[in-house]
Amino acid sequence: MRTPLIAGNWKMNGSSALVDAFGQAFADADLPESVEVVVHPPFPYLDAARRALAGGSVKLGAQTLNPLHAGARTGEVSGRMLKEFDVEYVLVGHSERRELYRESDDDVYDRLLAALNADLRPILCVGETLEARDAGRTRDVVLRQVGHALAPLEPAQRARVTIAYEPVWAIGTGRTATPEQAQEVMAAIREYQAGFDPALAQSMRLIYGGSMNAANAAELLAQPDIDGGLVGGASLKVDDFLAICHSAR
Ligand code: PEP
Repeated sequence: MRTPLIAGNWKMNGSSALVDAFGQAFADADLPESVEVVVHPPFPYLDAARRALAGGSVKLGAQTLNPLHAGARTGEVSGRMLKEFDVEYVLVGHSERRELYRESDDDVYDRLLAALNADLRPILCVGETLEARDAGRTRDVVLRQVGHALAPLEPAQRARVTIAYEPVWAIGTGRTATPEQAQEVMAAIREYQAGFDPALAQSMRLIYGGSMNAANAAELLAQPDIDGGLVGGASLKVDDFLAICHSAR
């Protein structure tokens, strides 16, 4: 039985006021116990979010980390630092980082390993561009990204990873993958995993991201291989995010 995970990625959005609004809304919210919920605010808000969410069940996540523990890396943040602020989850390989900051598959692997070594729970983001989809290369691209990141890991490390399938053409565009499109790719990821470790393939959480919102979440989350959502834009609206959490029940 896989516990559904709903993760809210604020990206470079939000404010102290939004952190407070979340704290209040989630303190009163009757969240389903069967769903794990995590919010990923920008670094400067992590400590305020930790305090605003204290005592509740919502967990804290970060949006990236540097592969090193410490050193001359101006502007960067390490996994060890995130742990000090009770961060549990961290995104790695988000398509915005792959595209805008040129993070290669090797860079993504280094961050994934750093997250595991810092005792964080990585959410590995994978997904194809529209060009790759139109060229019929979706499966190749996604499985290459998954394989590059997971194949070198020990089984116990792999068991700590959640995979977010996020078609690049669906992120922030309002164009959601159909439940069937998402299910097809996510079933392929699970089948690929089964080649390494059939038991892990069954227990590994696979979540969908790409314009998930309060209106389309239930249909996506009803698919057999979709165990939750990575939510960008809709995670900035408290009511919408709460509605998505309830859809995962
Ligand atoms: C994301 O940031 O991972 C994401 C899926 O964004 P959006 O929901 O806005 O498409």
